[in-house]
Amino acid sequence: MECAGVGLHSGAPVHLRILPAPAGTGIVFHRVDLDGFAVEAVSRNVARVSYATSLMKKGVLISTTEHLLSAFTGTGIDNAIVELDNLELPILDGSARPFVELIQQAGIRKQRRPRTYLRIRHALELHEGNKFIAVYPAETYSVSYAIDFPHPLIGKEMFSLELANGNYFREIASARTFGSRQDEQKMRDMGLIRGASRDNCVVLTKDGVENPPLRFADEFVRHKVLDLIGDLALLGKQILGNVVADRAGHAMHTALVSRLLRDRTLWEETTVEDQHDTLSQSPHSMAVQTA
Ligand SMILES: [Zn+2]
Repeated sequence: MECAGVGLHSGAPVHLRILPAPAGTGIVFHRVDLDGFAVEAVSRNVARVSYATSLMKKGVLISTTEHLLSAFTGTGIDNAIVELDNLELPILDGSARPFVELIQQAGIRKQRRPRTYLRIRHALELHEGNKFIAVYPAETYSVSYAIDFPHPLIGKEMFSLELANGNYFREIASARTFGSRQDEQKMRDMGLIRGASRDNCVVLTKDGVENPPLRFADEFVRHKVLDLIGDLALLGKQILGNVVADRAGHAMHTALVSRLLRDRTLWEETTVEDQHDTLSQSPHSMAVQTA
């Protein structure tokens, strides 16, 4: 199961392959161009967070992890090896849909081991200027996001979702990343979007979209939900909790993850019995079926 493309930020060509992994592995990236050097998709390896979330271990970079990690959470995959031969994941169409389709083609296998969840016991709220992110106790995993973006097509948008019953695939997976023509030159000069094109992001003009149609009228806030789910995957476990974000970004998403992990009074690890009826997904650990 593989795909090829370019990194959004680096423009670097890359091949990516997803392989099955035993229960307890988590998500682990392997740089096959560097003797298969392994970088686990966990909070302690978070490196640099501005326009994308990147992991680094002993100087080895894995950049722009959020869309693939989001697809893993959305499809319920707990364990996988991801091989890549360059420093950044491919941007593909700018959404998580191609990754979800790859995972579905490979098939999803239920593993014998019950999934371990991170159940939120006490609220954690982070403020930064007018930005906000928090997580609250809940029996399921749900996400709520608000943005206020100064553009005639966007403005205030809000989206809430419970990760159950295929909601992720229907409502979130296809939402693409976006950027504006006005910021483009500055971003290019800074070397931040060497791989950007009209095929891999929604391009905003002063008062519209250069490459219509949008996939959803509120595609922008849906993409923020996609990114948030991908960054929260760095907890290394699925959450039972309600995450609320207002104008946050990758830096605040990953700050929430590291603050949570540091304070063990805020959560507990738990498994969920098969007969538990508040979850509509299997409480078993999951992996892809074939490579
Ligand atoms: Zn994104």
